[in-house]
Amino acid sequence: MTAQIIDGKAIAKSVRDQVAAEVARRTAAGKPQPTLATVLVGDRPDSAAYVTSKQKACAELGMGSVSHHLPGDASQQQVEALVKSLNDDPKINGILVQLPMPGHIDEERVLQLINIEKDVDGFSPLNIGRLAQKGREPLFVPCTPYGCIYLLEQSGVKIEGANAVVLGRSNIVGMPAALLLIGRNATVTVCHSRTRDLPDVVRQADILIAAIGRTEMVRGDWIKPGAAVIDVGINEIADPTKKSGRRLVGDVNFAEAVEVAGHITPVPGGVGPMTIAMLMKNTLHAAEIQNP
Ligand code: NDP
Repeated sequence: MTAQIIDGKAIAKSVRDQVAAEVARRTAAGKPQPTLATVLVGDRPDSAAYVTSKQKACAELGMGSVSHHLPGDASQQQVEALVKSLNDDPKINGILVQLPMPGHIDEERVLQLINIEKDVDGFSPLNIGRLAQKGREPLFVPCTPYGCIYLLEQSGVKIEGANAVVLGRSNIVGMPAALLLIGRNATVTVCHSRTRDLPDVVRQADILIAAIGRTEMVRGDWIKPGAAVIDVGINEIADPTKKSGRRLVGDVNFAEAVEVAGHITPVPGGVGPMTIAMLMKNTLHAAEIQNP
């Protein structure tokens, strides 16, 4: 059996096209342009690149973006004052604080400050708390797990009643992904670094979401035949055949898993493009809440 490849690039493009069309419709109707504020503290090149690509996506979809860059030695008070001013600014619909922030900043306190109606990353404790409660809905779903579920749904994978295994329990991927699956009536097992007999647990999965950051750790013989495999991992390995000398691979051994799974996401081109697409969707949603 060869799995159906889930084309994250194409599905992300369809989300972006829908967002762009709705933004154009709203602005033509005289509503304010949906606008995202990004907050970057320090000079991590990867964080700066992520922020730039989010701003570029806003421009491509007809949305505004306002960039705030504080130096790496900015104080807790300065970061908090900036977030508070963005909360109070009616022109700003969404606030994205790029993580990780420098070690001396208490991220939790900063995330707690973001007005829930502007929390487009979905990381504030209020949004996560709502996600965890039966019968409650968060205003915003964290972008990467939202992208994972969207890929499953668009690929026609039945979530209700499925045995789902989530590898990883981080606040930004594993745990919200597990909560989303429970909310869609899957039976969910969450695995982490202390889980025993991991291959045996994974073999029970009709749906597997792998988010551990371990190069190709999940082998083909861990996969239940026909399972849907969503590989969130982004790991760099040496590849002398590439000009850069490197390439990206996931947490799943794709070459092996593709022979067993029913559906599978590639790395790159699977979950990666979904994260920014869902951020754009959330930013539009924020504008819809604030300017109905
Ligand atoms: P974290 O490092 O925050 O969390 C990793 C999780 O995996 C932890 O829960 C950890 O367990 C668990 N884990 C680590 N090693 C093992 C192991 N050997 N066996 C079982 N569980 C293990 O990572 P993130 O959640 O932030 O990211 C995970 C991966 O997803 C990374 O490769 C990251 O680059 C990628 N990513 C991709 C995104 C995208 O847009 N495609 C967005 C965000 C992340 P424990 O809790 O016990 O420590």
